[in-house]
Amino acid sequence: MIIGRVTRDALHQDWTELADGCWVRRYAEWDVNVGVVAGDDGLLVIDTRGTADQGRALRDDVRRLDPRPVRWVANTHQHFDHTFGNVAFDDAAIHAHEHAAAGLQQAADRARELCRVDDADSPLNRAVIDTPLRHPDVTFSSVAALDLGGRLVEMFYPGRGHTDGDIVLRVPDLDVVFAGDLLEESAPPSFGPDSYPLDWPETLELVVGVIGEHSVVVPGHGVPVDQAFARGQRADIGLVAATITGLAQSGVPVGDALRQGEWPWDAELLHDAVRRGYAQLAPSQRGLPIID
Ligand SMILES: [Zn+2]
Repeated sequence: MIIGRVTRDALHQDWTELADGCWVRRYAEWDVNVGVVAGDDGLLVIDTRGTADQGRALRDDVRRLDPRPVRWVANTHQHFDHTFGNVAFDDAAIHAHEHAAAGLQQAADRARELCRVDDADSPLNRAVIDTPLRHPDVTFSSVAALDLGGRLVEMFYPGRGHTDGDIVLRVPDLDVVFAGDLLEESAPPSFGPDSYPLDWPETLELVVGVIGEHSVVVPGHGVPVDQAFARGQRADIGLVAATITGLAQSGVPVGDALRQGEWPWDAELLHDAVRRGYAQLAPSQRGLPIID
């Protein structure tokens, strides 16, 4: 499997209660986090794992955790490892940003293609290829709230970054923030072919603005983090954007940028970041496609 993270051993196979009525579980496949928030009227599930079968297993895990019905699902963004389990939540309303809903098909096509190129016969790849899409039912453009009964969950769109459709969820009474892949703990942030490296720092400025001194912050992958971690990662992502901008402005060709820049992470992880950043800075001069 070449998409995202290598499957890790089953270290994290149980729910962690972050606060009263709020849990996270870290699944070994792609090391992805799933959140659950409980209200008087039911449960909200945040992200649904990467295949139909994983979604069904998640549904069973949630049922064992809390017998209340799952009435809401939120997708933090359109990538398959966060959305392909949607199909297992027939009775829930699925919420996402309007760009994530619009981009789900393209993200799914890309994930399936990568699985085919990697090894279409591996069971996990086959499961990704064969999973039918379940699209979001409700979308929003800037902010929205879910009333779970006695508990509100705020959802907001801080701007483009990891994709053009990443949202952040905040549970104000518990001081828990779900940041999706705008923040990652177990690997460097993922700059893919649908990322916006130059916008990401400002986007994270808004995210950091809702993270308090005692907030628990759940990244898309890895263990929960705090304000200091979020600020640090925002600084690193800012450094990537500034480096791309500086190299482009001083005339370094895109093909030399990775070698000439000083990066906070392995330069091999930043091919798309550099390509996307250069295209965004000077599309016409460099003969590169314009990124909207
Ligand atoms: Zn992602």
